[in-house]
Amino acid sequence: MTSETKHYIEFSDLVGIEIACQQCQTTVTHTLEKFSNAAYSCPNCNRQIITQDQTDANTLHNFIRWLQAAKTLKAGGRIRLRVLSEL
Ligand SMILES: [Zn+2]
Repeated sequence: MTSETKHYIEFSDLVGIEIACQQCQTTVTHTLEKFSNAAYSCPNCNRQIITQDQTDANTLHNFIRWLQAAKTLKAGGRIRLRVLSEL
């Protein structure tokens, strides 16, 4: 017999997004409530952490805008995000 544990995140639990530099591990956290723009480079070592390619920047900004909008949904049922890793 196998078992599977499923993990979900409620939209109301989403509070921010963290972006980590692969070179120095510095993290930058943006709250969803106050997010306006993400920095393209690490504030510590200046390595590029988000490509300045407009597609990548737009994808990130659109994702954050989607998260912000998801928190305001007034669904008749419960909508959650399923995640694979254990919390
Ligand atoms: Zn860095």
